[in-house]
Amino acid sequence: MLTPLFDSFLQHTLFPPANFKPTTITLSTGISITHKDIGVLEVAPANAQHSVVISSGIHGDETAPIELVDDLVSNILNEEVVPTERVLFIIAHPDAVHAHTRFIEENLNRLFSTKNAERNEECIIANRLQGHVSDFFNANDLNATKWHFDLHSAIRESKHYMFGVVPASTSATDIRPLVAFIQSAQMDALLLSRTPSSTFSWWTAENFEALAATFEMGRVARLFENDMTEFYPLKSALVALITKKPASTVNDGRPFSIYKVTRTLTKTDANFRLAFSNDAANFTHFAAGEKLAEEGHISYSAIKGGEAVVFPNANVALGQRACLLVQPYAPDLSVPLFVNIDAEPGPIATS
Ligand SMILES: [Zn+2]
Repeated sequence: MLTPLFDSFLQHTLFPPANFKPTTITLSTGISITHKDIGVLEVAPANAQHSVVISSGIHGDETAPIELVDDLVSNILNEEVVPTERVLFIIAHPDAVHAHTRFIEENLNRLFSTKNAERNEECIIANRLQGHVSDFFNANDLNATKWHFDLHSAIRESKHYMFGVVPASTSATDIRPLVAFIQSAQMDALLLSRTPSSTFSWWTAENFEALAATFEMGRVARLFENDMTEFYPLKSALVALITKKPASTVNDGRPFSIYKVTRTLTKTDANFRLAFSNDAANFTHFAAGEKLAEEGHISYSAIKGGEAVVFPNANVALGQRACLLVQPYAPDLSVPLFVNIDAEPGPIATS
């Protein structure tokens, strides 16, 4: 018998009782469900092999991922979906969801380099999530595969509507299973990073050798105003993964592009300026020699072969990324693929 606590994970997260205490129930299938914290729910089948973190709401106005997580949790509680793998579901930042805003004081997705001094709500949330994810992955058996999908929505137009960003980490993790997953989810593109970052997915890749990615899915919209049919292929791929069913291998001929980061432009001075509109679509291409940005006496132009821009934003804090520059990349997927730090991605791990 389910308790009212579990009626809706999302409603509970947005309107939690003042006296919340962690609770565990067991479904008729023997699966143990632990509501560990507000917005944090663990699903633990007996004899599970692998561990999967599915996080949403790191940015409060990116609501489609939150609906997707709520939907998956409902399916599991109703026993329509019966996971065979451990899953940790996260809806990260309910106050930012209520405020219809990306964050209240500080970008939560830049607070995963280490434990934070608790100067604001985002720092407290980041520390709390680091604790829950550490507990979850550390309880894993040693040979298990760890996965982390951090689900976001784009705040701008994109030439690729759904794409994944794979962080660069010092652990030598062959990411080909992640590439296969992203293709089975019918996403449009994949971007391989080059520099470490302080994002949630980087943190799990770096510290737990997780197959981790940030997914940028569709466009920001109000809660319950998203067209969730757009996310059916991703939902099917996630269900296949957590129920250990073969992923769909339907090749419907959709184009799928892989990019590697060529450069990261970092804003180091208040006079940093992009040479194009601040709301340019992700993956807008610039031919070799075209001007991209300037900062004081430094000018940046597209390199040989041209470059496309991703996540351009001149209004970031000093020291933060103002833009990624990328080029198409065609890895040989018959050999391992590592996302190396400060070096080309490829079959050889540099660290
Ligand atoms: Zn986001």
